[in-house]
Amino acid sequence: MRNVTIIGSGPAGLTAALYAARANLAPLVIEGLESGGQLMLTTMVENFPGYRDGIMGPDLMAEMRAQAERFGTEIISGDVTAVDLASSPLSLSLGKTVVETRALIISTGASARLLGLPSERALVGHGVSTCATCDGYFFREKPIVVVGGGDSAMEEAIFLTKFASSVTVVHRRDRLRASKIMQDKAFANPKISFEWDSDLVEVKDVDQGVVTGVVLRNLKTGDTKELAVDGVFIAIGHTPNTSLFTGSLDLDENGYVVVGRGTRTNVPGVFACGDVQDHVYRQAITAAGTGCMAAIDAERYLESL
Ligand code: NAP
Repeated sequence: MRNVTIIGSGPAGLTAALYAARANLAPLVIEGLESGGQLMLTTMVENFPGYRDGIMGPDLMAEMRAQAERFGTEIISGDVTAVDLASSPLSLSLGKTVVETRALIISTGASARLLGLPSERALVGHGVSTCATCDGYFFREKPIVVVGGGDSAMEEAIFLTKFASSVTVVHRRDRLRASKIMQDKAFANPKISFEWDSDLVEVKDVDQGVVTGVVLRNLKTGDTKELAVDGVFIAIGHTPNTSLFTGSLDLDENGYVVVGRGTRTNVPGVFACGDVQDHVYRQAITAAGTGCMAAIDAERYLESL
């Protein structure tokens, strides 16, 4: 029987673990395939307080992990396949292994969204990517497109100009959603051009098993055109990793865990922190902050039992 079990090992989960461990609760962290969370897919993080010269995302996560372990956090790998949040204690299944826990902290994060085209799905890993920092290197001196108009899309487009011969941003409106500073940087970059009011409707060439181009459709005129590119980066936002909790926890219309009064969910003893409950801020520091809150909420809940 565990006092506190934490699902997910990004900044939210590991901060929750650090606080729970220092409260002598001997937390268990279950990390899935995307161990360390989204920061494992980034390079330099310049806005995490305390690192004035910046720190590489994976290094920051290694620090957080070591800090959580230093105070007695146990970390195991495994995919939680089912949860029973109606039982007392709460129960989690990892295949045939069952973990019973008095309190549960959900910090399963969010994952990159895709457009949903069969050709896109078929070519993921063969020229279609959701992570510029992971895959940009493969597109040296090659033309690529980035889909999206938010901060992520601009960040990826700017980063990719280090490698690509040209970067075309495909956006479905005629105005970016990205912050002014990111827009200015993108507009000032001579390697970046824009295809406005456009949808990416097909990635070519599934038959060849590699990206050779894209078909764009102008949403105002209906005209289509083809661009010859070697890479397609999709940066259209994220989906919360909550399919495990459908039916057992209140989720909002976009699938994010609903929290009220700190990090409490609608199920007593179950708390949520980080991107799984935050579609607004989505920063490493806010995820860490809510991780701290979840551990304190869980500690108070355990005291009240
Ligand atoms: P986002 O702000 O939600 O932007 C998603 C973009 O993708 C939007 O431009 C949206 O178009 C477009 N889009 C969504 N679904 C689409 C679809 N099916 N087809 C075509 N286009 C689609 O997501 P984000 O850029 O990932 O940013 C998420 C949060 O993280 C934001 O709060 C952002 O500020 C923050 N962030 C900050 C930084 C930074 O400060 N350095 C870096 C990255 C992210 P519409 O505009 O038409 O809706």
